[in-house]
Amino acid sequence: MICIPIISNNLADALHDMAEASSIADLIELRIDYIKNVDLKCLLERRTKPVIVTNRPVREGGKFDGNEEDRIALLKLAIQLQADYVDIEHDSIKHLCRDTEHRVPTKIIVSYHNFRETPGDLTDIHKRLCQSGADIVKIVTHANNITDNVRIYRILQQSRMPTISFCMGELGIISRILYKRFGSYLTFASLRAGKESAPGQIGIHELLNTYQARRQDKRSAIYGLIGNPVSHSISPIIHNTLFKEMNLNSIYVPFKVDNIGEFIREFRGLDVKGYSVTIPHKESVVNHLDAVDPIAEKIGAVNTIVNKDGQLTGFNTDCEAAIKVLEGINQASAKSLGNTYLKGKKVTIVGAGGAARAIAFGLKERQAQITIINRNYERAQSLAGDVGCIAKKIDDPQAFDTDIFINATPVGMFPKINETPIDKNKLKPNMIVFDTIYNPIETKLLNDARTQGCIIVNGLSMFVHQAAAQFKLWTGRMPSVEIIENIAYKYLAMEGD
Ligand code: NAP
Repeated sequence: MICIPIISNNLADALHDMAEASSIADLIELRIDYIKNVDLKCLLERRTKPVIVTNRPVREGGKFDGNEEDRIALLKLAIQLQADYVDIEHDSIKHLCRDTEHRVPTKIIVSYHNFRETPGDLTDIHKRLCQSGADIVKIVTHANNITDNVRIYRILQQSRMPTISFCMGELGIISRILYKRFGSYLTFASLRAGKESAPGQIGIHELLNTYQARRQDKRSAIYGLIGNPVSHSISPIIHNTLFKEMNLNSIYVPFKVDNIGEFIREFRGLDVKGYSVTIPHKESVVNHLDAVDPIAEKIGAVNTIVNKDGQLTGFNTDCEAAIKVLEGINQASAKSLGNTYLKGKKVTIVGAGGAARAIAFGLKERQAQITIINRNYERAQSLAGDVGCIAKKIDDPQAFDTDIFINATPVGMFPKINETPIDKNKLKPNMIVFDTIYNPIETKLLNDARTQGCIIVNGLSMFVHQAAAQFKLWTGRMPSVEIIENIAYKYLAMEGD
């Protein structure tokens, strides 16, 4: 179930928001601690969906700053008025015991909140809550590490009692999205931006549209994007739409990861069926997998992981996608020359990370003359050594005597859209300038290149081809490249509004 909290501070707004939320959510949480001089009878009479009444004190992250007796009295009134649920803090349940004997039909949620951490004794806390006389227990903690979500998942899997559990904060968002798959009784989503009742609470429209939350169940296969940052990525909207179009019971979420080794180890417990890998983990992830496909091994970078019966295998779909895009620039030549269009072409790549590696190895196969430049020159030299091409200093003018210039760094990517990896004057007419960045679609580099008379190529086509190949590796089914392109254009255009 999806519950929308109402955090208005007056009766009229609360009634308005409750009516709006009731048209989308399964359940409404009335946070009466936000409302001055609350008229509980009026609110409950006007409900059209089941309601949780919560009167959270300041000590548990709420707004109620009166005395404890008055606070509990309002919850007792909610029970008398036959609210569907009442949420009471684990250290206050003793005050409700008398009433709970007659508590038909109100269900009691006994809750524990920890805004600092996900504590080590979660199992003990859960056990205590289960023995407290609750109908439903609620454990909400703060995620300081993405692996805290796995600990919440384990509690939910072991629980025999209906349990609401998730992590707060940016690192806990996945536990809010994957609530059904994790086994949580419900999740909370905000009515709109600014109406969040806790850190990390996702908006209802994002939950329903980007994550297709209504399609999720206990058996949904989990896929996701490993990277940092991940919030800008359009991969969730692409893959979740494809899962829906192809009627696959799967869901794709972003994983913001710092420590890749720890993440891969701990998330094996969640049986994630496949990952996309992005900046900065494409190279480092290779050491944490069970097997690596020969092409990805040669490149030394993985952008796709497939989990088959617990065995994690790495692949690289960036390489093939980038070459497809570059060969497609001159369709006529590409057709007449087969795959020799890139042969002998001078190509300069800025960047020496995972994407640069994939592109450089692909170009080498096509016998292009490659030059690598990079902020960290040693890294450029190392990549050039692996590929068998040359490295130049980033300010060497000879590096810009090239037919094709490729940006394989995040410089110019959203939100720093006014940055560019090279000076505009280094771009010459008719040079092909390919920016691997796709958000924004036209970067400052491409804008500069256009005004200098270059042929420009944005990162979206590469993204679309690598995503399609990735989807096929996971599901065995090839999605339509046009569908992916349409979703991506629509979404990126909306973002620009
Ligand atoms: P990565 O492995 O972390 O490598 C990042 C590279 O960018 C490194 O060479 C790094 O230089 C350089 N860099 C980072 N910040 C920089 C800055 N502020 N100034 C100058 N150089 C900087 O990342 P990746 O996975 O290769 O991704 C690189 C870019 O390719 C990203 O923008 C990503 O979105 C894009 N990409 C696009 C597609 C697509 O399908 N369109 C696919 C893959 C990647 P140092 O070595 O000096 O740190």
